[in-house]
Amino acid sequence: MTSASGATTECIFCQASERGVRLQPDASPHRMPDPSRDALILVRGRVSYVILNLYPYSNGHVMVVPNRHAPNLASMSADERAELMTLTRHAEIALTEAYAPHGINIGINLGTAAGAGVLDHLHVHLVPRWNGDTNFMTAIGNTRVLPEDLGESAKRLRPIFERLSRDDV
Ligand SMILES: [Zn+2]
Repeated sequence: MTSASGATTECIFCQASERGVRLQPDASPHRMPDPSRDALILVRGRVSYVILNLYPYSNGHVMVVPNRHAPNLASMSADERAELMTLTRHAEIALTEAYAPHGINIGINLGTAAGAGVLDHLHVHLVPRWNGDTNFMTAIGNTRVLPEDLGESAKRLRPIFERLSRDDV
């Protein structure tokens, strides 16, 4: 999703923010985002959202993403930074509740050299981990576990995020 001009039209996170992610073609692409029809988006905040990784490193691999095409923390507003951390906290709680992992990797990769898959649109990865699973860096490099069906992941996680959003405004 690199774009020399900085255009956001090719950015998958901008697309997800604006139109959601649908596995079926949408007959009316210009209407407002409808969370109930998002295949991968788990919850929307005011300025950011949580989305399942289409190519997960482990079951429950989610990302917290600002709506705006912000390349790094330096360019994010206080409001965006605050909500990013609030939703990262919700994601930690949701993953712990749904998957009971032994640990969670939480991280931001800035730039190609750091392993960023999508450049110039910051996102926080949360990857549930279990004792004895593959090394995180190995997982990023090449190995991927056979994941749970993403629809199943969404069904497990979405109600938890909705509850947390209600309780922690
Ligand atoms: Zn973007």
